[in-house]
Amino acid sequence: MQQQLTLKLLPSEAASFELIKKYTSVQLSIPQDSISGFRTIKRSIDARGRQAWILVTIIAFINEPFSPIQIDKINFRDVSLSKHQVIIIGAGPAGLFAALKLLEYGIRPIILERGKDVRSRRRDLADLNKNGILHPESNYCFGEGGAGTYSDGKLYTRSTKRGDLNRILNLFVQFGAEEKILYESHPHIGTNKLPAIITSMRTTIEACGGQYLFNQKVIDLIIGKNVLRGVQTEAGNTFQGHAVILATGHSARDIFDLLYRRKILIESKSFALGVRIEHPQTLIDSIQYHCSNRGEYLPPASYSLVQQVNEKGVFSFCMCPGGIIAPASTSPGELVVNGWSPSKRNNPFANSGIVVSVEENDIYRHFKKSEKLSDLHDRSPLQGMLFQQDIERKAYETGGGKFVAPAQRMTDFVQRKESSMLPACSYIPGIRAVALDRVLPEFVYASLQKAFVEFDKKMKGYYTNDAVVVATESRTSSPVRIPRDHSLQHPQIKALYPCGEGAGYAGGIVSAAMDGEKVAEKIIEQLRVG
Ligand SMILES: Cc1cc2nc3c(=O)[nH]c(=O)nc-3n(C[C@H](O)[C@H](O)[C@H](O)COP(=O)(O)OP(=O)(O)OC[C@H]3O[C@@H](n4cnc5c(N)ncnc54)[C@H](O)[C@@H]3O)c2cc1C
Repeated sequence: MQQQLTLKLLPSEAASFELIKKYTSVQLSIPQDSISGFRTIKRSIDARGRQAWILVTIIAFINEPFSPIQIDKINFRDVSLSKHQVIIIGAGPAGLFAALKLLEYGIRPIILERGKDVRSRRRDLADLNKNGILHPESNYCFGEGGAGTYSDGKLYTRSTKRGDLNRILNLFVQFGAEEKILYESHPHIGTNKLPAIITSMRTTIEACGGQYLFNQKVIDLIIGKNVLRGVQTEAGNTFQGHAVILATGHSARDIFDLLYRRKILIESKSFALGVRIEHPQTLIDSIQYHCSNRGEYLPPASYSLVQQVNEKGVFSFCMCPGGIIAPASTSPGELVVNGWSPSKRNNPFANSGIVVSVEENDIYRHFKKSEKLSDLHDRSPLQGMLFQQDIERKAYETGGGKFVAPAQRMTDFVQRKESSMLPACSYIPGIRAVALDRVLPEFVYASLQKAFVEFDKKMKGYYTNDAVVVATESRTSSPVRIPRDHSLQHPQIKALYPCGEGAGYAGGIVSAAMDGEKVAEKIIEQLRVG
């Protein structure tokens, strides 16, 4: 017999097989030795009260042999002789999960990635962090696995389509992720583990006969009679397919420019921009767990904050417990920060983006004072991108070069005072004390100023001089939407399938992966392959 039950346990109890067995026997009024084992199906932390509890939902195996979790493995077909082939631009989660879905249905994917494989990419990241040298085609956003490869690997989404989410998580496990991502309420993988998973996806795609090419930056589209026939790469190659999935992410500004130049409809969209905040992890632990030391059984604490200020939404974004602030720029002379964590989240800092929503009017007002307004009128679908770029350049300049980031202590930020000394910070290229009102537009600065103080009412101790504010977190989502119709094709260009975060249909690893699958399903439907 199998029986499901939920236990509320102290963190130390939740780590003990024997104690879980004991409490199960008490709750079900059965002898302990009738329980052969249990399978965890959900695990979350309830830290609302003074004592943190672990809530574990398990299936207990009673008077029958225990069987461990079985994931539904997906079979991928040999596509080497497939009569259909689909070009996928971009090997991020959207592109990779689209490719896997196509393989399942016997369609041959041709993945074109501008960057390098995960291993070579790691060397380029080291060059950026240690020497301040940015490789424009190989960085935290570009390269195998996309923007999510060297990240915290958080695998949750606000999307309610739970069915799809489980499928994505199962696939991650099939490619080597730990099974606990299937039951944890906030699963994450970690920077150290993601590259092997991404490599394993590539190996499968290639073994099935798919093509997976690096250093193939797409620079033009081959269009005939409003149908996309193929693409051209900077390396001088031409590729043709029955459909093209455009999954190039939110940082492929050259792709937005290309679509604009080719008069292919794109739209500007709202996004968010701000800073990354770093606190000592012990401080966040003590606030969230209401204790001076979280001990060995609780994970480094995270947080999620949102506040309406001056009619603007201010919210935390991509919080990385035990993490590192990373230079996520894609062009020289522009500074963007983001964050990552290893699987153990065992660094001494807790960082998070704190960003302010940016609407069309904000951008117009920002450029109004400068001569850039006429340029903006001409290129209005790209206005968000130009706005991001403007601020990223200021951040780079005020940092003084080599990706040193301008920074300010949190209390100094609120009091508009330049910091005389900065606290230790995880950001490897280094930080420099700068009054951040020199970098951020006033509406962003003023909203953050108020939000930091308001956040302290929700998390006592959050507003502190021990926290450092680092500029700038500008790539939270795409500033452009590439429209698509009910068939998920571009409304003007048939066979062009905008996909993932860059096209404006996802925000994060899991939702990008889901969108990749969704687009692939439409192509399968349209090619009528079963
Ligand atoms: C440092 C960092 C940490 C993050 N942490 C998390 C996290 O913990 N959890 C989470 O959910 N999300 C996280 N994100 C965001 C997440 O990575 C993205 O939301 C997700 O990767 C978007 O997927 P995508 O496939 O749509 O695009 P991307 O992942 O951006 O992939 C696009 C790919 O297209 C390629 N490309 C671009 N232009 C061209 C071209 N012209 N020709 C050929 N190839 C091209 C790029 O090189 C890239 O590999 C993080 C992002 C960063 C940068």
